[in-house]
Amino acid sequence: MLCPKCGTTVSDNTKFCPNCATQIAAQAPQYVQQLQEKSKSPVMWLVISILSFLFCCQPIGLAALICAIIAMCMSAPEQAEKAEKCAKLAKILSLVAVGCGLLLWILYFLYAIIMIIVAAANN
Ligand SMILES: [Zn+2]
Repeated sequence: MLCPKCGTTVSDNTKFCPNCATQIAAQAPQYVQQLQEKSKSPVMWLVISILSFLFCCQPIGLAALICAIIAMCMSAPEQAEKAEKCAKLAKILSLVAVGCGLLLWILYFLYAIIMIIVAAANN
């Protein structure tokens, strides 16, 4: 498991962190779960932001990608709050980029369908 204060890896039987002497037995499971959630989400939004950058709205997708990368780089415990903010921003930007991309695709398909109907009507 990991020390909740400094992030040092300690054995499951250890009650105090060898690095900073923080008591870890009681609060460790919750913290590990939080850490896993935190470290998992930027990766997910990184993938989504890359996809949105490639297939959807490029400027917003790029911004989401940068935020996701920043969030992933800030892995130190004292940067957790900032990393979480960046991950949230990456999440919002990714969703906006995907939304814009979907909207553009829908408009494109509507345009294509209208053009087909117009072409069919003229014949
Ligand atoms: Zn520690």
